[in-house]
Amino acid sequence: MTTHPDVVTICSELIAIDTSNYGSRGGNGELDAARYVVGLLRAAGYDPELIVSEPNRANVVMRVAGTDRTQPGLLVHGHLDVVPAEPGGWTVAPFEGRVADGYVWGRGASDMKDMVAMMLATLRRWAARGVAPRRDVVFAFVADEEEDGALGAEWLVRHRPELFDGVAAAIGEAGGQAVPVEAPDGTVRRFYPVAVAERGSLHLRVRASGTAGHGSRPNPDNPVAHLVTGLARLTEHRWPLTLTPPVRRLLDLTTQALGLDADLSSAEGIEAVLDRIGPLREVVEPALRPSTAVTVLDAGYKYNVVPGEAHAEIDVRSLPGGEAEQLATIDRLLGPAFTRSFLSYRPAIATRWDTPWFDAMAAAVRRHDPDAVVVPYCMAGGTDAKPFAELGIAGFGFSPLGLDPDGRTPAGMHGVDERVPVAALVQGLELLDEFLRTV
Ligand SMILES: [Zn+2]
Repeated sequence: MTTHPDVVTICSELIAIDTSNYGSRGGNGELDAARYVVGLLRAAGYDPELIVSEPNRANVVMRVAGTDRTQPGLLVHGHLDVVPAEPGGWTVAPFEGRVADGYVWGRGASDMKDMVAMMLATLRRWAARGVAPRRDVVFAFVADEEEDGALGAEWLVRHRPELFDGVAAAIGEAGGQAVPVEAPDGTVRRFYPVAVAERGSLHLRVRASGTAGHGSRPNPDNPVAHLVTGLARLTEHRWPLTLTPPVRRLLDLTTQALGLDADLSSAEGIEAVLDRIGPLREVVEPALRPSTAVTVLDAGYKYNVVPGEAHAEIDVRSLPGGEAEQLATIDRLLGPAFTRSFLSYRPAIATRWDTPWFDAMAAAVRRHDPDAVVVPYCMAGGTDAKPFAELGIAGFGFSPLGLDPDGRTPAGMHGVDERVPVAALVQGLELLDEFLRTV
């Protein structure tokens, strides 16, 4: 470890600590990375707390007192774990942490050791310059986000809620990064989506019951047949397009900024907009509908025996407030032979964009990119914002990066050759530092 590492070095050194999260199949855990974080912070004069949830699984939490302690606090959270990487197919070894060609390369470079490095560099800068933020800022470096947070954010919420006393809002992954879109007149507008909502993750195990018997005497109450026909009905179902408030706002601002004629009152009109917003489509489309995907089948034990029951698992993603209706539809489609239970139940979350929190994020982005169009959005998947929301903390996806003057962009999240542009990281630090100090 260098004595005074900058944000790029910190990001590279974090990548070189392999924190692959294999879920129940083990992995290295985050303890070494958490110790690295503690080391950097202690060297800067802070007193962070290392919180071990299970052997080798670790979190680091630290509160920096604000100058105005009557203000509600802000949480900034980043996860220390990463998804595993198969080195085959990578140009650069995924856990080397190489800095080359204007990028920091490696697993975690954009999800989200870049943000963790910016958080650390911000803290070290505050210590060196003797500055304090306006309000209390709690920094949480957490374990286990890439599984379900049970040993990270959720564990802290269950066992150490007092760490977040007085905290009203949080920022974490993912948002605050430029998405360029070409308008019909040929100009390029830069959109910065900031997440104000997340679809819910409900993982179902379903059981179809029926009458067991000999395979040579088929009966109409065969649970395997109930299972496949029920799942077929579910799979063929087209979930209706639903404009939740943040998505409506996102589409309004986007069509305005691009000068698009749009009819947002019909599904066809919205589909037509999707074709004209380039890469922003990926931000909008998954939040337009709830979804279901059958992921596990489990039925029968011998070819000449009709079993008494058959099972499947379904990955259900819900829109904010839509859980009850979606589950009722699933029950209707599956039919009366089915019962269900939850493997996990994390309903969707949503907060508001017409708040000083969101305004402060937008202002911070515009100070660095005056042409920025900052828009709220609903994330398709889930993050640690969900467990923190259980404490009443409004979650925003805001892990800002700057622009690379040569057009490099972050890439390879959960894929090969994950990387983050050095210039984006260096500017992102300025943006994050300024936002956290002044919000
Ligand atoms: Zn992540």
